[in-house]
Amino acid sequence: MICKICGDNRVTDFKVINNFKLLKCKKCKVVFLAEIEELVNADKLYDEDYFENYLYESSVDYNSVRTTAKYYLDYIQFYFGQINSVLDVGAGFGLFVKAFRDFGLKAEGVEISRFSVSVAKEKFGITLFNGELKDFISNEKYDLISFYHSFEHLPNPIQTLEKVSELLSEKGILWLSLPNISSLDRFINKDNWNGWSLPFHFFHYSPRTIKTLLKDFGFTHVKIQKSFLNPLRLIKRQNQTNNIFITKIYFSPYKEFIRKPATIFLSGQNMNVFAQK
Ligand SMILES: [Zn+2]
Repeated sequence: MICKICGDNRVTDFKVINNFKLLKCKKCKVVFLAEIEELVNADKLYDEDYFENYLYESSVDYNSVRTTAKYYLDYIQFYFGQINSVLDVGAGFGLFVKAFRDFGLKAEGVEISRFSVSVAKEKFGITLFNGELKDFISNEKYDLISFYHSFEHLPNPIQTLEKVSELLSEKGILWLSLPNISSLDRFINKDNWNGWSLPFHFFHYSPRTIKTLLKDFGFTHVKIQKSFLNPLRLIKRQNQTNNIFITKIYFSPYKEFIRKPATIFLSGQNMNVFAQK
């Protein structure tokens, strides 16, 4: 078995969760599913059932997607400069595309699921490219290419990054939102960790693994923002309320101020990775 990220052959068994076998590369430390090839029939993997929960949660809450999109767009523009165009890969129902367009940007989306693309069109009036990123042809170059919890679902990360490079404008930004395998959240939740999401998540990265991969690939500047185990979020989750006060604190500058020290010991499930071409 050869590592799909670095090509090394020192790949060892990592663990088995719900009968899915995970392997780990000794060199680059990436953890990946043993049976990716057997699972790549994504049409079958991402049928209506897969999206049912997602539809229920997100279709009712465009505002929450819009808030997230705004937060990260501001963040990216603060650190890397003006963004005028976006390509969202794994666009789902196109809510990020819709949000970016609402902010006045040029935005397009790529989505493999036919079901999802039809919901985007019928429910939200957003036309997405239905297919894989490798088949997406465009004369446009994009200032930002985003993978909001989709990069870990893709069977060929290197091939994906090659295509991303081709589509990014000069000094363009790649934004990945991913589970963080070395988070405290994972160690607390063990095999029940949400980030495993097997068999849908093919690859599992730590901040170090993804940073090395992107640097080796030629990205000049890689910035990683880890989420932390936020007690406010736990309160919010438990109460299921849309408490405006809590939401405001959640997206406040104070949170940014405590984020870095907090993530040293209390890293949460996800990380956001920003890489400049
Ligand atoms: Zn490797």
